[in-house]
Amino acid sequence: METLQGLCLSKLNQIYRELPETLSKIFSSRKNAKLKCTLNLEEEKNKKKKLRILIAGGGVGGLVLALAAKNRGFEVKVFEKDLSAIKGEGQHRGPIQLQSNALAVLEAIDKDVARQIVEAGCITGDRINGLADGVSGQWFTTFDLLTPAVERGLPVTQVICRMTLQDILVKAVGFDIVHNRSKVVDFIDDPDKVTVVLEDGRKYEGDILVGADGIWSKVRSKLFGFQEAKYTEYTCYSGLADFMPPYIDTVGYRVFLGLNQYFVASDVGDGKMQWYGFMCLNSAAKKKKLLEMFGSWCSEVINLISETPEHMILRRDVYDRDMLYSWSRGRVTLLGDSAHPMQPNLGQGGCMAVEDCYRLILELEEAINNSSDSPTSEDIAASLKSYERKRMIRVSIVHAMIRMASRMATSHRPYLDFGSGRLSFLTALRITHPAIHSAKMFCRLGMPPLMTWILVNHG
Ligand SMILES: Cc1cc2nc3c(=O)[nH]c(=O)nc-3n(C[C@H](O)[C@H](O)[C@H](O)COP(=O)(O)OP(=O)(O)OC[C@H]3O[C@@H](n4cnc5c(N)ncnc54)[C@H](O)[C@@H]3O)c2cc1C
Repeated sequence: METLQGLCLSKLNQIYRELPETLSKIFSSRKNAKLKCTLNLEEEKNKKKKLRILIAGGGVGGLVLALAAKNRGFEVKVFEKDLSAIKGEGQHRGPIQLQSNALAVLEAIDKDVARQIVEAGCITGDRINGLADGVSGQWFTTFDLLTPAVERGLPVTQVICRMTLQDILVKAVGFDIVHNRSKVVDFIDDPDKVTVVLEDGRKYEGDILVGADGIWSKVRSKLFGFQEAKYTEYTCYSGLADFMPPYIDTVGYRVFLGLNQYFVASDVGDGKMQWYGFMCLNSAAKKKKLLEMFGSWCSEVINLISETPEHMILRRDVYDRDMLYSWSRGRVTLLGDSAHPMQPNLGQGGCMAVEDCYRLILELEEAINNSSDSPTSEDIAASLKSYERKRMIRVSIVHAMIRMASRMATSHRPYLDFGSGRLSFLTALRITHPAIHSAKMFCRLGMPPLMTWILVNHG
């Protein structure tokens, strides 16, 4: 008869012999369970993520949002009335400056696309950029765009041709998603879905509609009623010149200031300079008018205008709108210029649109993660409200700064003007205007931290 000890020993031996097999069974069943669980979670996530986002407008904002949505597993459709409109009235609509804040967001959305954009662009943030007096050409103040970016590991400000940017984004998003020649004329916001109506009668259903259709947004008009955009009283002439100024290696962009007019010149790469002349004007004249207006300014300005052929000069009136403090209703929201169009002087309108995209996608993703099934109408409406709340302060500050900068850029009066009366001879003495000192002080002390705040945050 086996002893109790013997029995125990033989049982133990059996257990030890079978241990590796048992353990491997346990582990493999655990592994399978874990895998199954992960798959289930993934399946569930995918199932939940089948939120359908409809985007009106395939400009900077619409395309970047589509990219972010696609990369995060949303179903997305972009309706663009005319992709070729990016070319503008002539064959170019100028470049767009993407500052560190927008480039950092693009990197977070899609590293590969951000790399393509950086490779195709012309970096200007590593050179001197700032404000100068239009007549003397002397620097008024400069902005350090490089240090704040490098210190925080952000990409450095650059400019890129709008057509190239569109090309990169459309390719990354895909023509199955971007529907060209699809003008949005209406939408119907039902409790369980939103339907977009196109000009040719086609209809598409989705869970969310984003109006990224620019300053004249149809979606905005339907949501909040039609309102005319505000003519800023400035007309913008722009031109592209095959011209390499001698300072090209040291200066990125320069804003020349004057009274009721200002002039922006920026290197855009490939031996070309882009310039914008802003002025209070109603006339339709182009080069001649420009030379009349800027003819007594420094040679940098005159050379750029003179070197640009007439057909390469575009003229457009500049509009913006007052801030709208609500962008969403139900399943519909606004983004970029449709929500908060801005004047171009700080080169931030497009950058703000890019920032909006990231915040919107994060909010929608959170709505999905927080809901047990797919988000309800209430969840969607709440996440759109949360998106606008989180963006509102930063966008409002930038909007206000841009309006202030526009006034500053066009009220620059370096010397006292004694008019045409008996004291008019004093004008020739070029007595420094007393306000110039405080303006310079503000530009030196106030502008750099404000610019850094814009560059290194992304709302
Ligand atoms: C002269 C100038 C220079 C500028 N420079 C800069 C700069 O350097 N950096 C910067 O960040 N910003 C700059 N901006 C501002 C910038 O261009 C805008 O803020 C930016 O384009 C806004 O992007 P968005 O996608 O919201 O709108 P948009 O780029 O205007 O795109 C809207 C899109 O919607 C389409 N659309 C309109 N209506 C409909 C409809 N009913 N159905 C379907 N599609 C529709 C349009 O065709 C367009 O493609 C500048 C602006 C100007 C005027």
